[in-house]
Amino acid sequence: MRSKAKYSIEGCIGCQVCVNIAPSVFKLNHQGTAEIKNPNADLAVVKEASDQCPSESIIIN
Ligand code: SF4
Repeated sequence: MRSKAKYSIEGCIGCQVCVNIAPSVFKLNHQGTAEIKNPNADLAVVKEASDQCPSESIIIN
């Protein structure tokens, strides 16, 4: 069974990297910053996006 991620986004600079990596997990809101689209995303996917985020804004709890 795959692990589910518990995560949050803080201090996003709107680069869209996470949206490009996982469009089913992240989306940009009207302010142009990322928000969580799927709160039950797989940990591996969220971790990949977190590793690539230039502002280290994807916090895995
Ligand atoms: S990768 Fe990080 S900075 Fe870029 S949109 Fe996603 S959360 Fe924001």
